[in-house]
Amino acid sequence: MNQVTVKTSANTISETELKEWLRSIGQPEYRCAQIRSWIFKNFAVSPDEMKNVPVELRAKLSEKFSFCRTSEIKSDKSADGTEKLLLKLHDGECVESVIIPSPDRFTFCLSTQVGCPVGCYFCASGSGGLIRNLDVSEILDELFICCRKIGGVPDNIVFMGTGEPLMNYSNLVAAMNIMGGSGYMGISPRRITVSTSGFVPGIIRLADEKKPWNLAVSIHAPTDKVRAALIPLKHRYPIKEICDACRYYFSNTGRIVTFEYTLVKDINDSPSHALELATIAHGCGAKVNLIPLNPIGNPAFSRPEKQIITKFESILRSKKIPVTVRVEKGDNINAACGQLRVSHHGKQVGAVKDPVKNHRVHRDENAVKGKK
Ligand code: SF4
Repeated sequence: MNQVTVKTSANTISETELKEWLRSIGQPEYRCAQIRSWIFKNFAVSPDEMKNVPVELRAKLSEKFSFCRTSEIKSDKSADGTEKLLLKLHDGECVESVIIPSPDRFTFCLSTQVGCPVGCYFCASGSGGLIRNLDVSEILDELFICCRKIGGVPDNIVFMGTGEPLMNYSNLVAAMNIMGGSGYMGISPRRITVSTSGFVPGIIRLADEKKPWNLAVSIHAPTDKVRAALIPLKHRYPIKEICDACRYYFSNTGRIVTFEYTLVKDINDSPSHALELATIAHGCGAKVNLIPLNPIGNPAFSRPEKQIITKFESILRSKKIPVTVRVEKGDNINAACGQLRVSHHGKQVGAVKDPVKNHRVHRDENAVKGKK
């Protein structure tokens, strides 16, 4: 029977391991710095790119290590420069990564899983459930492919693509340590944000790492009842437990937590929701990022009108909560999380029933308009 050799991924190898291997094949130690520079500073996807490394050593590197096993199969660029990549993994599964340019910086949005176990009702990524976790090298492949696109490292990395990052904990943390490690890419942990649906055990575990990564929690609702209209029970934690975990995160890391709040028309967008959200954000010392829903085709979930969003924002501000409203990016390129992958696979999104039938709010339209 043929023996299958599993190669070590080049983008996860430590300096010590590489030096040992080079020594074992009679190569000088200085080759280590050369090779690592090609991998972590130049994002090489093949030893053939390592021009200052002898051809024989490049061949040995190819035999011993796997280089980028992920390839770009589709790229959509919107008018504002946001570029969404559909990446094919070694087993044929696909994930999405997004490059978001601003005048003075680049942000990469990376995925951590194929599909997502949480299955938020309004999200394309969760519509097919979890397929599998990405391993460390696959998460880094995403990063390296994006780095090659812009010719350098990004200013910010957000784990807000497909998946619940904290349910792929070990691989996520290992990848972030490589991104931030001084012998690797040297990206400051303060520029890396982990976004979670509110997976409490993961928040506590991440807090215990005592690293200054940013934490964004998709709270999406100010009460458990409203939250139930947006996130299925299986992976939904009570808001009180989430708030306790956020306070613990702040006390361990010193990082102010962000509440991500997807505004969905007639579900969580009323003035009273804003007031309740202000109370819990205040209790956690959290800032709030409002995200007007990017609809995925399910009529049960639509985006509130502009004046509703503005009103919601102004109520939070009046309660002294730091608040931002996410600027629309890439709105002509299937920009909602998971849409590109789902459309590539030809699956229907928004096929879920209307789980919010009984949760729609009666809005006091006059109160909203009166302040506008
Ligand atoms: S919003 Fe995030 S946590 Fe929810 S299903 Fe989509 S990817 Fe998963």
